Amino acid sequence: MTIPFLDLPAQYKTLKAEIDPAIHHILDTAQYASGPAVEAFERDFAEFCGAAHCIGLNSGTAALALLMQAHGIGRGDEVITVPNTFFATVEAILHVGALPVLVDVEEKTALMDPGLLEHAITQKTKAIIPVHLYGQTCDMATINAIAKKHGVLVFEDACQAHGARDGDRTAGNLADGAAFSFYPGKNLGAYGEAGAVTTNDPEIAKTVRMLRDHGQPKKYHHDLVGWNERMDGIQGAVLGVKLKHLAGWNERRRALAAHYRKHLPPGIRVIEERPGATPVYHLFVIRSRRRDALQKHLNDHGIQTGIHYPVALHLLTALKSFGWKQGDFPVAETLANEILSLPMFPEMTEAQVEEVCGVISAFERIA
Ligand SMILES: *Cc1c(COP(=O)(O)O)cnc(C)c1O
Repeated sequence: MTIPFLDLPAQYKTLKAEIDPAIHHILDTAQYASGPAVEAFERDFAEFCGAAHCIGLNSGTAALALLMQAHGIGRGDEVITVPNTFFATVEAILHVGALPVLVDVEEKTALMDPGLLEHAITQKTKAIIPVHLYGQTCDMATINAIAKKHGVLVFEDACQAHGARDGDRTAGNLADGAAFSFYPGKNLGAYGEAGAVTTNDPEIAKTVRMLRDHGQPKKYHHDLVGWNERMDGIQGAVLGVKLKHLAGWNERRRALAAHYRKHLPPGIRVIEERPGATPVYHLFVIRSRRRDALQKHLNDHGIQTGIHYPVALHLLTALKSFGWKQGDFPVAETLANEILSLPMFPEMTEAQVEEVCGVISAFERIA
């Protein structure tokens, strides 16, 4: 028996009857770039997040960059984020011309450590980008309070956190703006590339709408130098169908996470839930000092796993010129060496979770 890391074909089978006509409608009406299906999804997703506005885009990376650009962040500005995120968070900061500043994370949750923020804030700091890693919201009350005290903006990197809650509020409505990715493997995934910005600020929403469409409020009247980052009509249609299932899928992921916790051997540490947070388990991540051997053992038994992410950002070749070195962000480095993402997808069964846990238990016994 093999257990995949996630099973998108299995999900498509359950949705085929809804998705196929939605896609055919786009083909029949030629709403390929933007159009009514994207607009309908934007309204629905804004409501889902409890945000006033949603702007559909072509990727999460574009969402991060356009959100910063719309707030006037660029050359000479500093933006604070964490070293244990997908590369795109820092890439977007660099693409708008700003300087990324990193703060380490809390070991138990792998989320931004608010206790390190004030030390990282300078006269040049314009924004903080906490990353809701693995589908769990950061401590936004504390981060927002520090930001407010220093007159700094806060943008959520919510690319892994569709539907995650902090108290009774939902990711996408926890700060000055948020970036979402609908990359196929995310909790809400398109059938291609897609992303979105959510914001409560109508002026920012208007600017992001212009920036995604060559800076034109009206066809061929370009008020800004923008980009081509519009969401495809087909992706809007797919996402509109899938959004109706998201809450149920997230509920299922939480149940599977609880089942993992019950059946994992006692020696295995897991990334913990932050008090007050309701995670959506984009990934279910455990820790092991013998991570590489454990991953091989699981693979030998037909169980696919992943590492998110194997190299802390400050040690990546592409960022070499910033002069960061080993030891600069010790928690992120330790996590990078020990984390292992286990199979996690709504179509997974309890029996599959038990099978994974059994193989891990056997590994713990032999070692
Ligand atoms: C997926 C992801 C992104 C980038 O999203 P794309 O749609 O792939 O551009 C950014 N940040 C985080 C944390 C992500 O997981």
